Amino acid sequence: MTLMACIPVRDTRPERLALAAVRRVYDGPIITHAELPGTPDIALPEMRVAITAHGCFWHHHEGCPHARVPATGYPWAAKFARTRARDLRCRAELAGLGWRTLWVWECAVVGAGALAAADLDRMMANFIGGREHFAQIEGTGVLARCSAA
Ligand SMILES: [Zn+2]
Repeated sequence: MTLMACIPVRDTRPERLALAAVRRVYDGPIITHAELPGTPDIALPEMRVAITAHGCFWHHHEGCPHARVPATGYPWAAKFARTRARDLRCRAELAGLGWRTLWVWECAVVGAGALAAADLDRMMANFIGGREHFAQIEGTGVLARCSAA
């Protein structure tokens, strides 16, 4: 797989909203698109926290209304399986380097199921200041919890 093939095409709005939330709750140094496995959107080097905003469609957010598979001939299931495998591999590599990973799903910051800013900020602050190795922030409309935890 080429390097270009690793770069997902995506809406950057969830990333900007996640960054805004980080800035509201954290005043230490922030690196965007750090040279770490998976190029996390937001890295907090002093906390060794990597935060990535995942588009619900492209990263196939389980149980999420934004992640419905289109009825076309394209092999979406295989595509999503590859993306998911890459996300999990990057998370494992980050953990191996001593970084904790937070996934902020698009549906948590955009659309009808988006969280109130106060809730988003609280979850973000809890993770940054906590000890969990991995967490994800999801919108309110998600039917099933992700099995990646
Ligand atoms: Zn979602």
